[in-house]
This record gives sequence, C-alpha cells and structure tokens, in this order.
Amino acid sequence: MIAPATRTVLVGCLGLVLSLCAPAGAGASGQWRWPVAGSHRVVHPYQPPAHDWLPGHRGVDLGVGSSRVVYAVGVGRVSFVGQIAQRSVIVIAHAGNLRTTYEPVTATVRLGQRVAAGQRIGMLQRNGSHCRPSCLHLGLKRGTTYLNPLLLFAPTRARLLPHLGH
Ligand SMILES: [Zn+2]
Repeated sequence: MIAPATRTVLVGCLGLVLSLCAPAGAGASGQWRWPVAGSHRVVHPYQPPAHDWLPGHRGVDLGVGSSRVVYAVGVGRVSFVGQIAQRSVIVIAHAGNLRTTYEPVTATVRLGQRVAAGQRIGMLQRNGSHCRPSCLHLGLKRGTTYLNPLLLFAPTRARLLPHLGH
C-alpha cells in the first residue's frame, strides 16, 4: 500500500522526464522564488533546439516592472560572475546538480557567496538583454542539460525537483 502523497509524487514523476524526479532523501521544503518583482510575465518562452548545436532559446525571458532588482530563485552558491558572449551573467549552483543563470545583470554578489531564495543578487542592466524594453533571461540546467526554468515555479511540479536545505 502506497501512501497517497507518495503515490502522487510517483505519478507526477512518471509524467516528466525521469531525471527530474527528486532523488530519495533529497530533503524537504524546496522553495523557489520568482527572480524579479512585479507580475509574473514571460516575454519569451523556453524554446530548446532539437539538437545541442542548433540555435534556440535555452531559458525564459521575464518581464520586469519598475524595479530592476534581481533575486536568487533558490538557496545556493554563486558559481560564476562575469561576461559570457559580452553579457553580464550570474550563475548560482543549487542542490541536485541544478544551476540557474541570470542575464544581463550587474552583480551585487561575489563568486562563492552563499545566497538564500529571494536574496538580492544584482540589478538588471538596461541594455544587453534580447527584449525591448529589457527583460531578465533566466536559464536552468541540470548538469549539462537545459531545462525549462518555469518548472521551478509550477506548483505541481516544483516538488519534483530536488528539494533544498536539510
Ligand atoms: Zn532569453
């Protein structure tokens, strides 16, 4: 007899790529926060290419309101701050071999710094994003595989990702 809660998770996992399922004993209470203030608006969706070498949109572009403050989506450690293809990028490493990327952002955190979910990590730059007006490009990877960052925020799926803490 499987407990109802366990069964829900199992069914949910089967509905997703298996690698998204939380490993056993990964902990509890995963908390993911939207990285910008204001309404949750996706300007450009996630459009992964059919093959790694083809162009695509390996992330989501999020509309911003009057505030340009950018927040960490989850607990983690800053694993990169610098320029990639002439854009200012912050990368945060999370539990479960997950990484989130934020661009174009002027960092207010330093390499190696631990951050909490919802902690300010920088300011969105006015130029350098691929939207007009500017937007935040948010990326999500597990290992070398790009994932749709919106998975983090979907209420029924967020718990399938590795939980943080503990
Ligand atoms: Zn983008």
